[in-house]
Amino acid sequence: MTAPRFDNHFVAELPGERDGGLQPHAVEGALWSPVAPTPVAAPRLVAYSAEMADALGFDAADIADPLFAQVFAGNALYPGMQPWAANYGGHQFGQWAGQLGDGRAISLGEVVAADGRRWELQLKGAGTTPYSRGADGRAVLRSSIREFVCSEAMHHLGVPTTRALCLVGSGEPVVRDMFYDGHPRAEPGAVVCRVAPSFVRFGSFELPTSRGDVALLRQLADFTIARDFPELRGQGESLYADWFAQVCERTASMVAQWMRVGFVHGVMNTDNMSILGLTLDYGPYGWIDDYDPDWTPNTTDAQRRRYRFGWQPQVAHWNLGRLAQALAPLFGDVQPLRAGLERYLAAYARAEREVVAGKLGLAQAGDADVALMAELQSWMHVAQVDMTLLFRALMDIDPERPDFAALDAAFYDPGRREAALPVLDGWWLRYAARLREDPLDPAVRRQRMRLANPRYVPRNYLLQQVIDRAEQGDEAGIGELLEVLRHPYDDQPGREAYAARRPDWARERAGCSMLSCSS
Ligand code: AMP
Ligand code: MG
Repeated sequence: MTAPRFDNHFVAELPGERDGGLQPHAVEGALWSPVAPTPVAAPRLVAYSAEMADALGFDAADIADPLFAQVFAGNALYPGMQPWAANYGGHQFGQWAGQLGDGRAISLGEVVAADGRRWELQLKGAGTTPYSRGADGRAVLRSSIREFVCSEAMHHLGVPTTRALCLVGSGEPVVRDMFYDGHPRAEPGAVVCRVAPSFVRFGSFELPTSRGDVALLRQLADFTIARDFPELRGQGESLYADWFAQVCERTASMVAQWMRVGFVHGVMNTDNMSILGLTLDYGPYGWIDDYDPDWTPNTTDAQRRRYRFGWQPQVAHWNLGRLAQALAPLFGDVQPLRAGLERYLAAYARAEREVVAGKLGLAQAGDADVALMAELQSWMHVAQVDMTLLFRALMDIDPERPDFAALDAAFYDPGRREAALPVLDGWWLRYAARLREDPLDPAVRRQRMRLANPRYVPRNYLLQQVIDRAEQGDEAGIGELLEVLRHPYDDQPGREAYAARRPDWARERAGCSMLSCSS
């Protein structure tokens, strides 16, 4: 066994509290608390990511070693691990929520990989911490499968994201009231090991500022820039300004990629916004089936739908505004923060044009093309067309002699299809005219569209099928689904079922269209 090499900067360089105990308490003047994972009854490796294991230097023998499941269940530590829970606050659903912190996440250490890349390993569901606020610090198998599969799927789709190394069954039940409606039940428990260069969130900066602790804020900002943004030069306010602009740029590209693939985060609270611009905290997220910009999978947000699909770009901007407020004490004049927020809007507009160009198969897209895309999307909404199937089919339709039979499988309601196709004819005339002006040759165009429009995404119902099987004791579905999602842009013969639109049974089924935070 070659245990990874650990080099734990976060706990070595930033102030942590000493011995605060596990009782919920305000942690002031400190960015983390030391905490040991709580061992579980019967750790069992359920699934792992081959790519992530490889990046961290684990070979097949390491993974097969019972110690691997012990460590990633929280029952043992490799030499060099130094577990901690991070302290942060956040705006939840638009309201300042005060101190939150890692209530069910425990970081184990920072690995330096053979290629020099740094990865923090973090268990989710490994027991209580000082930030658990009376909850159990555990996670259920269903939500752990969702986080494990989706993190890796997003990576293969090319969307910036935290990763996942493995999923370990705990052998212990966890009681959850899935819809907070007085029907608690015992479910199998699990622990996911998430992996990212950093799990620092917007809320990590908001908390010290909310308490007037500018020295702590500055320490965290300096640490983050030095460890995670080494390419930034300069010093003082101009360095902070460049850094904030970078965070704005990265957040813009992340959200543009969500919109490209049809991902709805579901809980874009500022404690779930990564300072690295990575998709973070897979809870009640979902995937767009029939195109609907107003859809959110999160039942906790069903009334206001603050985190609906189509609002994600604006919400990210609002969240960056909260980060700007948190960073304001580092600036004499807040103009650079305003400039950063402007930069977000410009970067998002640029990224959106790139997404439009890719999805429609254009060399470059301008404002008129973004408008053309918006018209197609309104049509998709009215026609109740499956987003993934529609875009993937576009490249197979001859622009000059369009045959829309290729779209048949994308309609959820055959009745709407009849009314919708004549409208699409009108749109298509303009699209075909636009393609005639475009310099790309057909083969290049096709390739560009293939790489912008995935065949396979982890649709809500596919995950639910895997979860249903796993809860019945058949866990093979997790690896089977992940295998398909490792190559989301390839046509995989024999795996057409994974690309099928949502079946009727899944329309209103819990877990498929409705999810709660109770994971
Ligand atoms: P989330 O909705 O997962 O982003 O969680 C919001 C806050 O609640 C974070 O501080 C979490 O650590 C905490 N939290 C959520 N679920 C649990 C749990 N089962 N045990 C302890 N803390 C939790
Ligand atoms: Mg969270």
